[in-house]
Amino acid sequence: MIVALRVQKSSKRKNFGPVTAVGKTTPATRRTAGQGPKSGPLTKTEIDEIFYRLWKENPEPKGELDYVNPYTLLVAVVLSAQATDAGVNKATRPLFAHVDTPTKMLALGEDRLREAIKTIGLYRNKAKNVIALSRRLIDEYGGEVPPDRDALESLPGVGRKTANVVMNIAFGEPTMAVDTHVFRVANRIGLSRGNTPISVEEDLMRVVPPRYALHAHHWLILHGRYLCKARKPECWRCPIAALCRYPDKSPAP
Ligand code: SF4
Repeated sequence: MIVALRVQKSSKRKNFGPVTAVGKTTPATRRTAGQGPKSGPLTKTEIDEIFYRLWKENPEPKGELDYVNPYTLLVAVVLSAQATDAGVNKATRPLFAHVDTPTKMLALGEDRLREAIKTIGLYRNKAKNVIALSRRLIDEYGGEVPPDRDALESLPGVGRKTANVVMNIAFGEPTMAVDTHVFRVANRIGLSRGNTPISVEEDLMRVVPPRYALHAHHWLILHGRYLCKARKPECWRCPIAALCRYPDKSPAP
């Protein structure tokens, strides 16, 4: 009876759904998926519903690193390894006001860059990498950030996750950058059973509906950072709790 009432209610909302950020209208019937606790693999409909709900909460998710162009985005992501976005922003805000190209970075030099970012963890090594990658961008890519993942990954200090973030944010590619939050959240929800970042990335590339793919990693990062936290996920206020497969959901405090 309860299910029947819910289906009826959904059908009245048939024309409501994501239109702008993610493309076509989502059939309202999908929103009936996931009532009550679930087990077993997520169905396609449930995965669609999960991303529909994340979209609904935050239609235009944004990364939290400050940048002014693809180059400063690349530098900010390199600096953010094992550091908080807020900590990186504190250091880069005054830096990027004056230094926003590889040429200007080389003119600044490694010593002054090190001084500018000394509040960020691993700053010595990161300063070295930023200078080296800036030189490579000038020597090999005309001072531009190449819109190519392999080229990005070949730069000093740039790994797959960094390359994916830059490809996604700077060049609009639907990549899945897997950081610690995405790794944890994807496994808890049941979007992946991967035990390495690359296997989680591959799972997400396979299961995330195309119209949600551009923003998917942002939604999962923000979900992990603010709600599905590592130690105590706040399941009682989670919009996808009825679909999530995590067996140890936290009760309301
Ligand atoms: S129900 Fe809990 S474990 Fe599942 S996604 Fe939400 S916060 Fe995370």
